[in-house]
Amino acid sequence: MAGSTPIPLEQARAAVLAEVAPLPSEVVALADALGRVLADDVVGVEAVPAFDNSAMDGYALRAADTDGASADRPAKLRIVGESRAGAPAAVSVGRGEAVRISTGAMLADGADAVLRQEDAAADGDRLEARAAVTRGRDVRRAGDDVAAGATALTGGSAIGPAELGVLAGAGRASVGCARRPVVHVVTTGDELVAAGEPLPPGGVRDSNSLTVPAQARRAGARTRVAARVPDDAGATLAALRDGLEADVLAICGGVSVGPHDHVKAALGELGIDQRFWRVALRPGGPAWFGVAERPEGRTLVFGLPGNPASAMVVFQLLARPALAALQGADPAPRRVTATLDDDARGAPGRIHAVRCRAEARDDGWHARITGPQGSHVLTSMLGANALALVEGDRRAGERVTIELLD
Ligand code: AMP
Ligand code: MG
Repeated sequence: MAGSTPIPLEQARAAVLAEVAPLPSEVVALADALGRVLADDVVGVEAVPAFDNSAMDGYALRAADTDGASADRPAKLRIVGESRAGAPAAVSVGRGEAVRISTGAMLADGADAVLRQEDAAADGDRLEARAAVTRGRDVRRAGDDVAAGATALTGGSAIGPAELGVLAGAGRASVGCARRPVVHVVTTGDELVAAGEPLPPGGVRDSNSLTVPAQARRAGARTRVAARVPDDAGATLAALRDGLEADVLAICGGVSVGPHDHVKAALGELGIDQRFWRVALRPGGPAWFGVAERPEGRTLVFGLPGNPASAMVVFQLLARPALAALQGADPAPRRVTATLDDDARGAPGRIHAVRCRAEARDDGWHARITGPQGSHVLTSMLGANALALVEGDRRAGERVTIELLD
């Protein structure tokens, strides 16, 4: 694998994932856990709900006491207490008795059903049931949502709004989550100019120092950016050495074989083990991957092509799965089959990752190409929510695999 024959995309992805183990976990308060990944299964300490309760406002009673009741022939009962949310009734319900009850309040002892407010008429402690109810009617059982001791959420789940609620319900104030990976981004090139600085002749705006860290943050990472290393062997070596404490080092540009490309030589000098160089992919062919071992862990090193669209595509297809796996999440890409709405040009011997806009319609997924596909063209990334993975030329109407982006 160390040669320079391009390797297939799937093989490259597998080679990256083979190097990844989840990072150690840390305790995260629920208030800070949105977007994190749960390290272990979470078992409910308490049942949710914790007690039988009412689904409606009304009266807790014995269903048998309402047998045959109707608006014309109401059953007569006596109100003996009240159960409010947070304040259960102090009494139990005997034959011919009822307890006024609020939605979510604990079912009174002895009661086996709830008569809805709209089917009841109360006058002082006298109650008329104007409908018959069956046992269990409008009663929510303890453990309906999560039984005590049951697994409420499995490890590897991404924590979103609903997960936060389920965790709180399961009695958790904090959870274990893999540490967020640190991604160190280096951009290289004498020509690079930061946004806001005057653009000299031949200058190129440094966009990768914004796009790539943004992709990393979207994938749950923390980022450090060492932008604009000149095309100089010593400066490149120093910049890469600085990045080796991170979990992931992403170097943009300078990874090719031109006289002013110093990245591969520096990686070699730093003793970083190459796993592959060149992927059968367009854009993004000149992609490098290797691993640096250090005492407390390892650094995954990605040499991304400098062209802005290439850098983003390689990050998405190869680095993003690694960031998911580092956090203990499933790194599998989200792929679906879609009908192409435009012709797509292939790239001989390679997979062409075509930026497109995917949309689910009545007849399934469709993919519309977002614009010119040059590796320097970043505007066709705008609005692109998928990459169509095209082999050979494809005509509009053909079905292709697309990988959905976030
Ligand atoms: P390289 O991979 O260094 O040969 O760069 C390929 C192309 O990408 C050149 O046109 C570079 O000017 C451009 N490029 C490299 N790095 C960046 C960057 N950080 N932002 C925008 N364009 C870049
Ligand atoms: Mg360069």
